[in-house]
Amino acid sequence: MEQCYREEAVKIRRILHTIPEEGWQEVRTTVFLIRVLEQYGYQLQYGKEIHGVRYGVPDQKVYEKLHERNKDVYEERFEDVFQGYTGVIAQLDTGREGEAVAFRFDLDGLAVSECSGKEHMPSREGFASQYPGSMHACGHDGHMAVGIALAHWVMVHKEELKGRFVFIFQPAEEGVRGAKSMLTSGRFPHIDRLFAMHIGLGMETGKIGVGTRGFLGSEHMNLYFHGQPSHSGNAPEEGKNALLAAATAALAIHSLTQYRAGIARANVGIMHAGTGHNVVPGEAVLGVNLRADQEEILSDLHRRVEETVKGAAQMFENQTELEMIGVSACYDHVNEAFAAQAEKVLKDAGFAVERDPVFGASEDVTMLMRQVEEDGGEALHLMIGAELAGNHHSGSFDFDESALALALDAYEVLIRYYAAVR
Ligand SMILES: [Zn+2]
Ligand SMILES: [Zn+2]
Repeated sequence: MEQCYREEAVKIRRILHTIPEEGWQEVRTTVFLIRVLEQYGYQLQYGKEIHGVRYGVPDQKVYEKLHERNKDVYEERFEDVFQGYTGVIAQLDTGREGEAVAFRFDLDGLAVSECSGKEHMPSREGFASQYPGSMHACGHDGHMAVGIALAHWVMVHKEELKGRFVFIFQPAEEGVRGAKSMLTSGRFPHIDRLFAMHIGLGMETGKIGVGTRGFLGSEHMNLYFHGQPSHSGNAPEEGKNALLAAATAALAIHSLTQYRAGIARANVGIMHAGTGHNVVPGEAVLGVNLRADQEEILSDLHRRVEETVKGAAQMFENQTELEMIGVSACYDHVNEAFAAQAEKVLKDAGFAVERDPVFGASEDVTMLMRQVEEDGGEALHLMIGAELAGNHHSGSFDFDESALALALDAYEVLIRYYAAVR
């Protein structure tokens, strides 16, 4: 791809790196994306119209603070965005018959404090996070930069292209929340061919992984136990102990993961209970993450967790509530025809390609990939090789910015193959 787009990607990555916003809080980021994409001439959808079921939304107080921080970019049309309906979908119809080709990029940063030492490139070069305690520590700043530069290239070259282009800028990937919301909006665009990507994750610099598989399906949930507090000295029998109900459930949940057919994981990662040394705890909450490599296992595990929680609650006469706060799909297959074709196209263009790398974690782009395939389209995930400084989700995380040009070059070659006028 021409040098100007590569430079644009680096420039945008560095701008976005300074304003890392966590899931459902990507207000400034969304406004930035809207303004740039609008300038390029894209048809945009944003705000409530691109959202449906939103899991794991922070409370209102968070948005009051964000309003204050972002008031310099406020416009009335961004009201929904300021309320947490973040993300944007940009489309271009070339007017020529062809496929709807889509690209998905994620927006959110993490609650990680960025290293301030000079050995950390963003700090040394002056584009480290301006928001203490938040950081783009997974490379999503790079993903968005690729998305913007690619959208720019597509618009400039639209006379050479056919079909429809869809750029999906999805919020709240961390905690696997945004994809579900976009899919349930009722207005998610039809897609024939979906490309997804992630920078780093162990892929060598200069290499492209084609046909990533091994995404574990994941559910994040909060389990609430409502009991009855009482004086632990003079009326202990009047208490209904929520802490003990939660603790009983926590132990039992960890025993549920034995499946012959595949992988299952359960983790009780959070437990809060109790208000005082001399009070029978009346309220408790567990934060639970379930994962599996097959939907059947994940849904069975979910069912058994619910039964376990009911049982534990009954032992201590508690009431319970389950709140879903994130979900991603199991995705452990490769569209062989699509992957083989893309591999050939990239190899013929001189790229170093690795087939079917294993992701080994969860990513909610799998929700979009599964939906596109169920609707008769095709989906492919690419890993963009990049040397990393520090691990993903750590304060010293950084990636070799040559990955941006690599992704742009690969996407140009793929677009010219799948969506060029011949
Ligand atoms: Zn991440
Ligand atoms: Zn990520």
